[in-house]
Amino acid sequence: MQKMTHRITPELRLLMFEHHDYCSSCGYKFKEGDTSHSGYSKNDEPLYVCDDCDHLLEETAVRNVFMPRFYEIPPDKCKLWRYMDFTKFVSMLSMKGLYFARADCFQDIYEGAKGTLKNKSKWDQFYLSFFKELIMNPPDGSEVTYTDEEIESQAEKLLHDLEKGGINGKKRTFINCWHENENESEAMWRLYSSYLENAIAIRTTYKSLYESLGRNPSIKIGRVKYIDYQKNFAGVNDSFWCKRNSFEHEKEVRAIILDMHHLEKGKVIPCDLSQLLEEVFISPNAPNWFGELVNDVIDKYGLSIKVSPSELIQEPFF
Ligand SMILES: [Zn+2]
Repeated sequence: MQKMTHRITPELRLLMFEHHDYCSSCGYKFKEGDTSHSGYSKNDEPLYVCDDCDHLLEETAVRNVFMPRFYEIPPDKCKLWRYMDFTKFVSMLSMKGLYFARADCFQDIYEGAKGTLKNKSKWDQFYLSFFKELIMNPPDGSEVTYTDEEIESQAEKLLHDLEKGGINGKKRTFINCWHENENESEAMWRLYSSYLENAIAIRTTYKSLYESLGRNPSIKIGRVKYIDYQKNFAGVNDSFWCKRNSFEHEKEVRAIILDMHHLEKGKVIPCDLSQLLEEVFISPNAPNWFGELVNDVIDKYGLSIKVSPSELIQEPFF
């Protein structure tokens, strides 16, 4: 078996990220526990392959045990919406980027939570046993020389670190939220713009969002899972991909970026707005002049984007 070189070029990293579930050579769909091999062909082309295609690698950079993603990626063409007031829209145009808010600044107090406090002892028990098991069965098969007390206290420490990591994670996780919907949503106008006169909705697709953010493997984009925290816990790695069932109407798709060093309450990630913004919709409550203003501002920033009135105000017939 080839020795791993750990040489990972940006091209290989992108290939591993985008092909995550499939062998880039034969298309085999990886199953949990399979080995993925990443490296380069004779011509130094990046490859991310399965066991059967392993022979194509002239150089193996890394081998990994395959784990499914912690989040589900929506289909390329899935429509995503963001409802906002005019100032936020202008700020987005002027900054040429998307604002990612720090997770601890969200109103939802369960943002990043693993479960409800009343169920915490179950969670603690589970992880204490899990850690004890790990300590008593080291992966390299070496002999365990700890006393029962030492195992107990090491497991307690790991549990404490896990909890600390969870709390700190809120200050290191930055999120940008979207609403997945084929259509414009009356409820979202209410919720995110309070049905303001000066509100707009922007529409894009998953693919445009991903590409306008530069196909960046550090930015994960996926669907939020809605779970019943009375009965379930979020996983250690997917707590920022879970929300309470009572938020299900949001049908949220979010982009998440981790930053260990950024201390502000949010960060702006550069975005190609001409690619992102497929159409802009004007609030159903807006006066006529507001649509012209939105068009003017878009012009001033050198963009060419279709601006449409809200479909909610189209006249019915009976
Ligand atoms: Zn293959």
